[in-house]
Amino acid sequence: MKDPKNKFSINLPLKGIVQAITDLPDPVFAEKMMGDGVAIDPIDNVLYAPFAGQITQIHNSHHAVTLRQGDVELLMHIGLDTVALKGRGFELHVAEGDQVEQGQPLITFDADTIARECVSVQSAVVITSGQEITTVTPLGSVQTDLNQIVFTVPSSNDPQGTSAPAQETATEPTGPAITGSIKIPNATGLHARPAARLAVEVRKADAKVTFTVNGKTCSGSSVTGIMSLKTKLGDTLEIEAVGPDAQQVVADVIAAVKAGLGEEITSFSEAPQQEVEEEAPLLQVKSGEEGVLIGFTASPGRAIGKLVKHNKALPEVTRESIGAAEERAAFKASVKSSIADLQSIIDRLTKNGQEELAEVFNAHIELLSDPELSEKPLADIAKGQGAAWSWKLAYEAQAETLAKMDDPLLAGRAADVRDIGLRVLKKLLGVDDGGEILEEGTILLQEDITPSEIVALDLTKIVGLCTTHGGSSSHAAIIARSNDLPYLVNVEDAMKDLADGTVLLLDAKRGKIKVAPTDAEQAAFTKKIENAAKQAEEYQRDAHKPAITKDGFQVEIAANIGSVEDAEKAVAAGAEAVGLLRSEFLYMERLNEPTEEEQAEKVGAILEVMGKERPVIIRTLDVGGDKPLPYLPMPQEENPFLGVRGVRIGIERPSILRRQVRAILSQAHKGHARIMYPMISALDELRAVNALVREEQKNLGVEHVEVGIMIEVPSAALMADKLAQEVDFFSIGTNDLTQYVMAIDRGHPGLAARADALHPAVLRMIELTVRAAEDAGKWVGVCGGLASQIEAVPILIGLGVKELSVSVPALPEVKHTVRTVSMEESRKLAQAALDCADTSDVKDLLKSHQ
Ligand code: PEP
Ligand code: MG
Repeated sequence: MKDPKNKFSINLPLKGIVQAITDLPDPVFAEKMMGDGVAIDPIDNVLYAPFAGQITQIHNSHHAVTLRQGDVELLMHIGLDTVALKGRGFELHVAEGDQVEQGQPLITFDADTIARECVSVQSAVVITSGQEITTVTPLGSVQTDLNQIVFTVPSSNDPQGTSAPAQETATEPTGPAITGSIKIPNATGLHARPAARLAVEVRKADAKVTFTVNGKTCSGSSVTGIMSLKTKLGDTLEIEAVGPDAQQVVADVIAAVKAGLGEEITSFSEAPQQEVEEEAPLLQVKSGEEGVLIGFTASPGRAIGKLVKHNKALPEVTRESIGAAEERAAFKASVKSSIADLQSIIDRLTKNGQEELAEVFNAHIELLSDPELSEKPLADIAKGQGAAWSWKLAYEAQAETLAKMDDPLLAGRAADVRDIGLRVLKKLLGVDDGGEILEEGTILLQEDITPSEIVALDLTKIVGLCTTHGGSSSHAAIIARSNDLPYLVNVEDAMKDLADGTVLLLDAKRGKIKVAPTDAEQAAFTKKIENAAKQAEEYQRDAHKPAITKDGFQVEIAANIGSVEDAEKAVAAGAEAVGLLRSEFLYMERLNEPTEEEQAEKVGAILEVMGKERPVIIRTLDVGGDKPLPYLPMPQEENPFLGVRGVRIGIERPSILRRQVRAILSQAHKGHARIMYPMISALDELRAVNALVREEQKNLGVEHVEVGIMIEVPSAALMADKLAQEVDFFSIGTNDLTQYVMAIDRGHPGLAARADALHPAVLRMIELTVRAAEDAGKWVGVCGGLASQIEAVPILIGLGVKELSVSVPALPEVKHTVRTVSMEESRKLAQAALDCADTSDVKDLLKSHQ
């Protein structure tokens, strides 16, 4: 690449007409604020590497890429104002950090979209390392040969191409550091153009300026450095300047950013943020009883225990160091103690036969023991930064790099890096989250809990769970129910003020917590627990008898399960079927997608446990929303519950669905398998996945397998008459149906109490579905949490629901309840409930009925 005159050659990166950069209709490029270069009006839609080097930066919107070799850095910016496309129309072929060869494709772009929606397709090819260019290609000529040199720049590149950029060799100014900060008002952050204007502002001053955003730092005079901060609207730009003009440049930078750096901006008030006074909401849930806190039932049951608070809120991480040796020692000790904690989790899980879950924590130990992950923080600690700060920067950067990888396996590791990162960080900050030191009889309080955190809890020690956030139908709640762990969500904030060790009487069935009870209260509560246990024994005695109403109508009572062990427990508790196998729960803790054979093995084992006489509804993969799958990284979405979730994942990635469907079909002969699709919202989705199932059925030569859909989206309930024509059954998912009917996130911290499946609007949706199915000669089950709610049982059967699929511990009591009511009364009750005006009316109706 270097010619004999020590000039560095830049070949053609884009086929098209080479023009003067000064011709571009954008002053940032035309006035060379970013540096010298050329413009190219493309006649092709691929950007190629114009020399061999390293990709140092790719903008989030994928329209600009920076390539470096030694002291030469080149920015290639496709089109003008293309940042606004937010990645639409750009396909990346490389990633940051990649080494590329000259002529290698970097980005393919949709020139039509750019031409239609942006200022221009003309693209800028700019030296950002400060050198002036000597053009070789005649301006105005059409160039199509990728080996054509477009311009050259002076360079002191050594043969390995590892020298530092030219502009960074100046002597460093000294003096006190002046600091300031400003919120970024640019809609798409400091992308190329505003970054260039900002760097120009900085370069005018005799000062060394550093910018920091979200813990990332760069030189204020480097356009690409500023771009690499990957800022967003509203981020705070921290400015630090040293040198004779420090004071002035900080003021100038603040003024320039405030003015928008040449772009239309959002205005942020610079007045100190107004203190928002706490107010009592109009709809408030508080017990009002002395010494009693209330919450919302996520998993019923009672427990006596001592409070342990897991504090998730971390203190601010600052850069300050108390000395390199001390910080290094603290860092090493935290890593060591995290590894020890992980090892004891592994030992416990292995002892409980949860080897697969133990594998996840083994992988965490491996990651933590990798010297590469500690290299960067140790270097930063040596430079005088605090251990927590250095560690946080390093693991977040590592996680971010992994998350961007095209390889789903590596991308999935990002969550693991964050997980171990947080574990070590908490140690460094002295935040005690209980670790493995819990005592027996612990009632845990934390802000919220994820499905994978809850599966990792040591239930030999924890007798109850409370969260100040969370929803009663969250997936963590479902796991708590299947483990019979009393769990209240949305408990009053006052619980956070209680001291660790406070004795609590947790009545998760009634949504109450008695704080520091008297001996008499404790004795009475113990009696209640004993009575309930006796009653449960009675229900269990009849668990294997059918559930027939007093007037002779049989209702099928099925189980919701997520594992082979659940299937065994379900059979023991009298399940007549599996109404919902949450297939994703089989693989939630895995780091990689199970093979078709592995999936078949688990499904086959469950079918064998249930036997031919007990049908098993296997729901296809239902992740997204609050159920992430470590091996299936999903793009960040503004509203994940309204995004690629449920069946939409199978539609987007049919190979995953196909593998699962093949696994199910290959095992169908072992029992009575039915297939169900989650979150169907329209007929075309149903037809698309049904076609795939029928195709595989034919390929495998398997007999007809019944298929059904979950009704959990209002559009599906409203269109149930049409959908019923193409399925064998419906199963109503009241957890999601409530969330979508009431427009309340099922895990919402403050609104859970109002996301109640007993709301007449939800009941009316159920009625609509049952009527449509009956007209089409199909049956309807309910597998959402409402079916396990004892008081709701007569309403559901009165609405015409034929199957109730409930959590395993609830099976005997639900059967018992069916036997205590008549269909005639239940129908009347259901009609009265449909006529209610609000949830509270339905609840009053149920109370008067009991
Ligand atoms: C539901 O939404 O009611 C349901 C049963 O599915 P999941 O809770 O798994 O989303
Ligand atoms: Mg659902």
